[in-house]
Amino acid sequence: MKVQAIVSIMIFKKLSELSDSDLNKLHSRGKGLADVGASVDAILENVQKNGDAAILEYAKQFDKADLKSLQVTSAEIEEAVASLDSNLLKHLRQAAENIRRFHAAQLPKEIWYIEETPGIVLGQKTIPLSKVGCYVPGGRASYPSTVLMTALPAKVAGVTEVIVCTPPLADGTVHPLTLAACKIAGVDKIFKTGGAQAIAGMAYGTQSIPQVDKIVGPGNVYVTYAKMKIRDYAEIDFPAGPSEVLIIADDFADPKMAAADILAQAEHDPNSVSVLVTPSEKLAKSVFDEVEKQSRTAKRKEIIETSLKNSAILMTGNMDECISFSNDFGPEHLQIMVSPDMEDVVLNQIQNAGSVFVGNYAPVPAGDYASGTNHVLPTSGYVRMYSGLNTAHFLKSFTIQRISKEGLGEIKDAVIDLAETEGLFEHAEAIRKRFEE
Ligand code: NAD
Repeated sequence: MKVQAIVSIMIFKKLSELSDSDLNKLHSRGKGLADVGASVDAILENVQKNGDAAILEYAKQFDKADLKSLQVTSAEIEEAVASLDSNLLKHLRQAAENIRRFHAAQLPKEIWYIEETPGIVLGQKTIPLSKVGCYVPGGRASYPSTVLMTALPAKVAGVTEVIVCTPPLADGTVHPLTLAACKIAGVDKIFKTGGAQAIAGMAYGTQSIPQVDKIVGPGNVYVTYAKMKIRDYAEIDFPAGPSEVLIIADDFADPKMAAADILAQAEHDPNSVSVLVTPSEKLAKSVFDEVEKQSRTAKRKEIIETSLKNSAILMTGNMDECISFSNDFGPEHLQIMVSPDMEDVVLNQIQNAGSVFVGNYAPVPAGDYASGTNHVLPTSGYVRMYSGLNTAHFLKSFTIQRISKEGLGEIKDAVIDLAETEGLFEHAEAIRKRFEE
């Protein structure tokens, strides 16, 4: 029987021959949020008005789950953990430990002071947010790893209450590994709800879901659009939509590995995007052939087939063009698979990337699960202005000043002069009063 190849990488071209419309398509990826706007707006409004009742209805409609209540009970958590293979739990704990350690290393000093001018002591104190909601996707796949990537950094930062919302399975349960991950991460409450309704629940609060200060976590277009819309009620991390990878490679890269990495990203979502950019035509051709070969036996063929149509293998005249293209594209994940003497040369010129993976043995899945860095990262080019999830997302700070009369004397004339020039005369008086005999 002839095996049908499923691959159809949308673009296999020289970068210089790329049409404006193809280039535009790559750069505007994942930005079609407006298409879901009307339906998400209606969900947000319904949840704000009707709370739990609306959310239970949406569980029926979108997840085919007939739920009696939204919160996962401790008995359900214990039952789930007991049902799991001990090796799987061991691996989850290993991943959790690496993530915990990496994020603990990110913590800033809790409080610091400087005294550059005698009598003026300035400081900053950092404190954790009180309530955080983590969105853990659960539509096309289950994401226990996302529990670790969102809830663990929140707990490491010291957040008092961390809740998780995740879509229920059709039988009304939550994937047991997701529940085990919640237990390991120390999540305080778990709710069976996904999509825009989950974001609405956490932003507005319902009879059972507490209102939170900040919502973090990735999701599909419904989740991402909803996060962008509720910002009057809760802070969000950033738009984290369909996953994407850009691989900068030269002849040092192993085509089998590069092709496997393209497929790994493509299996996430029909809207996922994988791009390989290389000065080597030989490598480009070998990777293309390998993608075709490996895609034949891929288990998530349907998703891969669609997302490969968003993808590209591009050939450039030299490595500088690869770097420049990558910086314009701003990938969520950037893999640098170049000869060892070029690794730092490339890395040092990277301006826009969510997380960078250097070397043939640093594939994205290592960071997706277990190396310790965070996998919740801005997509669709938003790395231009946002950083990937880290402990700072769960912290806020205030500044402190202790000033003596001597210290105030040092800046007295400057403050009075500037305040009066701005027309704020009482500001100037507040200073003068302190020096009246
Ligand atoms: P999801 O949990 O984001 O979405 C499932 C929910 O979408 C459902 O519960 C339902 O409520 C809602 N939904 C589905 N169809 C709908 C419709 N027609 N109208 C309204 N709501 C609807 O799970 P998913 O769909 O598998 O998506 C997960 C996404 O997260 C993928 O795109 C994946 O690539 C991405 N991801 C991103 C990162 C990152 O850091 N950027 C990390 C992990 C996963």
